[in-house]
Amino acid sequence: MTPTTLFYILIAILLINFIIDKILDALNTKHFDDAIPAELQDVYEKEEYEKSQAYKKVNAQFSNITGLFSLALTLAFFFLDGFQFVDELAKSYSSNAIVIALIFFGIIIIGSDIINTPFSYYKTFVIEEKFGFNKTTKKTFIVDKIKGLLMTTLLGGGILALIIWFYQFAGTHFWVYAWILVAVFSLLMNLFYAKLIVPLFNKQTPLEDGELKRAIEKYATKVGFTLKNVFVIDGSKRSTKANAYFSGFGSQKRITLYDTLINDLEIDEIVAVLAHEVGHYKRKHIIFNLVASTLLTGFTLWLLSVFVSLPIFSEALHISIPSFHIGLIVFGILYSPISEITGLLMNIISRKFEYQADNYAKETFAAKPLITSLKKLSKNSLSNLTPHKAYVFMHYSHPTLLKRVQNLNK
Ligand SMILES: [Zn+2]
Repeated sequence: MTPTTLFYILIAILLINFIIDKILDALNTKHFDDAIPAELQDVYEKEEYEKSQAYKKVNAQFSNITGLFSLALTLAFFFLDGFQFVDELAKSYSSNAIVIALIFFGIIIIGSDIINTPFSYYKTFVIEEKFGFNKTTKKTFIVDKIKGLLMTTLLGGGILALIIWFYQFAGTHFWVYAWILVAVFSLLMNLFYAKLIVPLFNKQTPLEDGELKRAIEKYATKVGFTLKNVFVIDGSKRSTKANAYFSGFGSQKRITLYDTLINDLEIDEIVAVLAHEVGHYKRKHIIFNLVASTLLTGFTLWLLSVFVSLPIFSEALHISIPSFHIGLIVFGILYSPISEITGLLMNIISRKFEYQADNYAKETFAAKPLITSLKKLSKNSLSNLTPHKAYVFMHYSHPTLLKRVQNLNK
């Protein structure tokens, strides 16, 4: 294969990914105005439903525009030898491979972040604002951006530097060391995410004594689930949308409830949501996900080690001296069809798990409050009641509201 052929394969992958995505979007958009299924008639009032329709359409349009813009920019970057330019720029500052890679990715990541900022600003302060979701102040928005960038620099930069260092002393065997590093890192993140990362962005307080706490404790005792950590997070600082999630395991396991969830739902509905989360834990979904993603990481890193040092990878981007960071860029694009497939498989499994967690909540608590809570949560986020099958198959990590309600009613 010639470097030029590889170059056009990369362009073809970018284009095909984009086209598939847009076809799915278009299919989904076409079904926005479908009749609401009988089971979901009570989710919205007429006026609210119209608002949700408008919200979906505005978002679809917005994602078409941003998608086209970023595709055009990426293609321009490829055809104008942007990678070669940034690579030379980085090399003018240092001759150390690690420093070069850090500068290279620093420029690309910070550059694309700056270009994307007006879009995320528009999304938050125009679209979300217009539909009454946004609670983010401009100050929070800016502080979030800076914190996020610092975190990416520290964690991402640190991991990248270590991996290139492994590559320098172990050659193609670097992938084993990198795998251990990433596995240990994600295990630690899973255990301590709530303690280390969340406090950077949100306030968390232990759930106060009261009716809700007693109801949660009663349920936890009933199913033999030791739960000392139930926290309330100030999600209302950014958005009116509500959520609850489970993190960690062993002594570090905790349930986090958004303050918005506590405001919007009745006590038995919150316990039902919690029972669903306990179901994920009891059915070992959290361990499964951790093991599956670790194995997948190992496979990806091994594949990377096979290809990363091929000279053709850098030649395709008109760079004469092969380097790890250029290999990583080309590999990342070549790998994207594979990651589409693994992502699809993970979504299929995830949707199965959601049914299992729903069933667990139904068996150990009750179906009805879970149904009403799911409906309320869908309504509050103005979610789509009539998504297209193909779109759900590709993108949804959860079954549709209709399918979940039908399953719970069985
Ligand atoms: Zn779930």
